[in-house]
Amino acid sequence: MLGRASKTLFHLVARSGTLKKLASRYGMRKPSSFARRFIAGETVAEAIEAARAVEARGMKITLDLLGESSRNLAEAEAATRAYLAVIEAITRSGIERNLSLKLTQLGLDVDKASTIDNLRKILEIAGPAGFFVRIDMEDSAYTAVTLEIFETLWRHGYRQIGVVLQSALYRSEQDLQRINELGARVRLVKGAYMEPKSVAHQEKADVDAAYARMMKMLITDGHDAAIATHDPAMIDLARQWARHHDVAADRFEFQMLYGVRRDLQAMLVAAGYRVRVYIPFGRQWFPYFMRRLGERPANVMFVIRNILGERG
Ligand SMILES: Cc1cc2nc3c(=O)[nH]c(=O)nc-3n(C[C@H](O)[C@H](O)[C@H](O)COP(=O)(O)OP(=O)(O)OC[C@H]3O[C@@H](n4cnc5c(N)ncnc54)[C@H](O)[C@@H]3O)c2cc1C
Repeated sequence: MLGRASKTLFHLVARSGTLKKLASRYGMRKPSSFARRFIAGETVAEAIEAARAVEARGMKITLDLLGESSRNLAEAEAATRAYLAVIEAITRSGIERNLSLKLTQLGLDVDKASTIDNLRKILEIAGPAGFFVRIDMEDSAYTAVTLEIFETLWRHGYRQIGVVLQSALYRSEQDLQRINELGARVRLVKGAYMEPKSVAHQEKADVDAAYARMMKMLITDGHDAAIATHDPAMIDLARQWARHHDVAADRFEFQMLYGVRRDLQAMLVAAGYRVRVYIPFGRQWFPYFMRRLGERPANVMFVIRNILGERG
């Protein structure tokens, strides 16, 4: 299957030091550089500027300070401090207060208790300031622990948080049912990671079928459902399902990635739907960028043309 083969290739290539160096050199250099199609910039000021432009087009935003896999507690604490600074900058800027973050960035590979402490530090500042914080979902090694941390904090009264479920994983339909019952907010995605057969559907058709089933459950029984996809078939199905079940357009939202299917984003806004754009920024953009290339090999040609153009 091409989708799976290209994901595999890009996950391997993502580990290449040479490529990383080349990408770092050319990817963000100028406003027209290739990585800027998917990443708003390296600084929070650039992300806020991008967010303002997205808001001016009638859309909602969520900002993601890129970073994953902190290797020690010092890195995890630095990432936490960086998030606190982002919260301050967003608060001053007047853009919508909405963040996405990854638990490995806060230390999940190092120590679970410290990760929870770091997350609490962020929520203690973000909550009173009116932020919503979405915990992104990483690969399946982290699914159980991410949900456990999320559900524990939820039970401890943290209500400004939400989680992500991936239709690729067999377990997700059960997870969705439980989280819907909890009353918490779910972002539904197909899943960006290479996963083994033991835990995940391998065929795109099966991932899509699971997405359709979960999306129906989420729209009907969920809370502020976030349908995160660029797949027109899934978007049409969501619109039909909501209409059929009298779910008003303000009870759910579509979410898409910065730089992907801007035409579809605009079309949905014009049709009266809420659309939220996920805006990543920061210096550690390479793994995120490689996942985007793996999803759509045609993006590679765009990158190659851009590099040749910049070097010439
Ligand atoms: C807001 C948001 C948050 C996300 N958060 C997470 C997360 O926390 N964890 C996680 O595992 N995954 C996350 N993802 C990624 C998701 O899992 C998919 O990998 C990604 O969205 C591609 O799948 P798709 O649903 O768009 O459908 P696909 O069937 O892969 O694609 C449908 C169509 O969308 C367009 N498209 C898709 N990807 C690209 C691209 N990279 N470049 C250009 N066009 C493209 C193409 O036209 C394609 O034909 C997130 C996605 C979104 C939109």
